[in-house]
Amino acid sequence: MMAWRLVIGLGLTALTLVIAGRRIWWLYSLIRSGQPDHGRSADLGKRMWTQATEVFGQSKLLKRPIPGLAHFFTFWGFVLLLTVYIEAYGALFDPDFAIPLIGRSAVLGFLQDFIALAVLASIIAFAVMRIRQAPERRHRSSRFYGSHTGGAWLILFLIFNVVWTMFLYRGAASASGHLPYESGAFVSIGVGNLLAPLGQGVNEVLDTIGLLAHIGVMLGFLIVVLYSKHLHIFVAPINVAGKRMPNGLGPLLPMESRGKEIDFEDPDENDIFGRGTVEDFTWKGMLDFATCTECGRCQDQCPAWNTGKPLSPKLVIMDLRDHLFAKAPYLIGGQDMPEEGAVTLPGTKEAGDGHHHGVPESGYGRITGSGAEQAVRPLVGTAEVGGVIDPDVLWSCTTCGACVEQCPVDIEHVDHIVDMRRYQVLIESEFPTELGTMFRNLENKGNPWGQNQSARMDWAKGLDFEVPVHEGETLDDDVEYLFWIGCAGAFDENARKTVRATAELLHRAGVNYRVLGQGETCTGDPARRSGNEFIFQILAQQNVETLNTVFEGREAGRRKIVTTCPHCFNTLGREYPQLDGHYEVVHHTQLLNQLVRDKKLVPVAGTDGPDVTYHDPCYLGRHNEVYSPPRELVGASGAQLSEMPRHADRGLCCGAGGARMWMEEHIGKRVNLERVDEAIATDTTKIATGCPFCRVMLTDGLTTRESEGEARNQTEVLDVAQLLLAGVTRGGPSDGQVDRDDSDPE
Ligand code: SF4
Ligand code: SF4
Repeated sequence: MMAWRLVIGLGLTALTLVIAGRRIWWLYSLIRSGQPDHGRSADLGKRMWTQATEVFGQSKLLKRPIPGLAHFFTFWGFVLLLTVYIEAYGALFDPDFAIPLIGRSAVLGFLQDFIALAVLASIIAFAVMRIRQAPERRHRSSRFYGSHTGGAWLILFLIFNVVWTMFLYRGAASASGHLPYESGAFVSIGVGNLLAPLGQGVNEVLDTIGLLAHIGVMLGFLIVVLYSKHLHIFVAPINVAGKRMPNGLGPLLPMESRGKEIDFEDPDENDIFGRGTVEDFTWKGMLDFATCTECGRCQDQCPAWNTGKPLSPKLVIMDLRDHLFAKAPYLIGGQDMPEEGAVTLPGTKEAGDGHHHGVPESGYGRITGSGAEQAVRPLVGTAEVGGVIDPDVLWSCTTCGACVEQCPVDIEHVDHIVDMRRYQVLIESEFPTELGTMFRNLENKGNPWGQNQSARMDWAKGLDFEVPVHEGETLDDDVEYLFWIGCAGAFDENARKTVRATAELLHRAGVNYRVLGQGETCTGDPARRSGNEFIFQILAQQNVETLNTVFEGREAGRRKIVTTCPHCFNTLGREYPQLDGHYEVVHHTQLLNQLVRDKKLVPVAGTDGPDVTYHDPCYLGRHNEVYSPPRELVGASGAQLSEMPRHADRGLCCGAGGARMWMEEHIGKRVNLERVDEAIATDTTKIATGCPFCRVMLTDGLTTRESEGEARNQTEVLDVAQLLLAGVTRGGPSDGQVDRDDSDPE
C-alpha cells in the first residue's frame, strides 16, 4: 500500500505541476507584455513594512472586522497548513515522517489543529456573508453583484475539503501510531481516539485514503486558483509589493510612453498618449487586473455606483482583465492582429445576451471569446461599437479614491481611469461636450469659469483690513506664507466667503502672508483629472515658473503656501514636484488648527454651540490623509460634531471631483443629493466642509432639498474657517456672525 500511495501521490503532483507550470508561464508572459513601469521597487524598507502589515497583518482587510478576521484566519491557515503538507508529502515516503527539529513539538501540533478549526469557522462566516449579500436578492446593493459567485462557493467547498481530509488523515495516523504529535494536536488526537476502535488495519487504510484525498484536494485547489479570480492568493503579495507608496492616494503620475515621460513641448510621433488599447497598460496595470479578488469593497464605496451610475470600479477592473486574457493570443500567442478594416464588429445594440456575469453595466460581455473582434474592439466605446468600457462608465468617475483606499490588494483604479480618459481626450477628442467649454476657459482665461483675470481680487472687497498682495519678483524675507486663493476662492460667491474668513483669521493671528492676486492661474487640476494633460502641463508650468520666482533663494522649509482648496493643495504640493516645483503646502484647516494650538487664535465657546456635521473633501481626506485638523477646529469653535455614517476614510464624495463639477449628471441620483440626504439625517443645523467645490455641491443639494421641503430652512453649509471665525469673534462687535451662503459679501 505504501508503494501505491507514493506512486499515486507523486503522479498526481507531477501532472498538476505541469498544468500549473504552463498556466503560470502564460500569466507571466502576458503581464510582462505590458509597458514598462518605473519606481515600483524604490523604498524597499517601506515596501517590506507594507508587505508585513497588509499581507501578513491583513491590516486593510481588518478595517471591516468580521470579514477581516475571517480572511486573517484563512490567510494564516494557508501559511500554517503548509507544514501539514510538508508532513503529508513526507508521509508518502515514510508513515512516521516528522519535520526535522520542530516536527514533534506539541506547540506546532496545536497551532496546526487550531488554525484548521479557525479556517473552518471562517468559511462558515464567509458562507453566511455570501448568503446575506446574495446578488440575486440584493442586486446592485450587494458588493458581490457582478462577481463570480459560483467560483467563490467552489473555493469555500474546496477549503472545507482541505480541513476535513486533514483531520481524517491525521486522526487515522494518530489511531495507527503514525502521527508525529503525542499531544497538542487536540483535534487530530480526538479524531484518532474515535477511530481507534476500528483497529490498526482499517486505520492504516483510512490514513492512506485521507492522505491522498488531502493532497488531491490541494492539487485541485491549485489548478482552480490559477484559472480563477482566486489567483490573488499568489499575485496579491506581488501586487502589494509593487504598489505606489505615497501618503494617501498621492499625485497622478506623469504621462509616459513606453516607459519614457512624454515631452509635451516636443512629443515623439510614436508616443502613446494614455491607454487606447489594453496592451498600452503597464505590466503593473495588467497585474492589477489579474489580482482583483472580486470582493466588491470598491464597488460598495463608489459614489457613482451608489447613485445608480453604470460605473463600478470592480467591473472596470474585471472587464479589463477579461479583455486582456481574451486578447492574449494576439499579444503573446503569436496570432497576427487583423489588418485594419478586415474585421467588422458585430454592432451590438445593447449588451444583450452578452451581459457579463449578468450585469448590464459590464462592457466585456458585449464581445466574448478570443476571435478577431476581440483583437480590434475599442477599449472605450458604446455598446454599438463593442467597447470594453462604456463612455458613461469612464466619465462617471469623480476620482474620489474610495475604491483605491478600500481595495485590499492595492489596485490603482483611478490611475487606470484617468489614463483611459487621457487617450479619449488627447487622441480621440471624445469627451462630454460640457468639458469643451471648461477646456476653452482654462486655455483662454486661466480659470474654468471663464472669468476675467482682472476680477481675481474681487473677493477681498469690503474687508475692513487690507489683504497684502505680492508685488515684484521674490517674496520679502519676513513673509511666511503665500496664501493661494484658487479659482473657486476668487470667482465663486460661496467660496469667496471661505477665503475672506481665512484671510481675516490670518490677519487676526498676525500671520505675515501675501496673495498673488492676478499672478495666479488655475493649478490645472480639472484639466488633469479629465484627461487633458496638455492643458494641465501649460497651466502647471506657468504656475511653477511664477512660484519658483516668488520663492527664489528660499531653502526648503521656507517655501510655504496655504490654500483653502484641497484640489490646489493636492496639485501644488503633490503634483508640481513632477515639474520641479517644490513647496510646503498646507491646507487652511491645518494652519488654523496650529494657530489655535499656539493660542494665536482664541475661539470662545458658546453656551449653546451649534450642532455641526463635517463632510470630508476627498482631496483633503483620502488623497492627503488630513482628517483630524478640521474636526479639531469644529470642536475648538465650540460646536458639537455629529458624524455622518460615511465619514473620514469612508467619506462619500460630493460629486464634484475628477472634473465632474463641470459635467452634467444625467444618470441616476445626483451624488450631491445622496450626500446631503446623509447630512440632513444627522439633524444638525450646519454642514461644515473644507473645500470650495464640496461647498458648491452641498449648497446646491441643500437648496434642492429645501425647495422640496425635506430640509430645515435654517440649515446652512459653511467652511470650517467660518465656524472658527464665528468662535473667535464671539462676544465682540460682530459676535459669532458668519457670511451666510445666501448673503453677498460685497
Ligand atoms: S474614484 Fe470614486 S468614483 Fe471613481 S471609481 Fe473609484 S470609488 Fe468610484
Ligand atoms: S476592492 Fe480591489 S480586489 Fe476587491 S473587487 Fe475592488 S478592485 Fe477587486
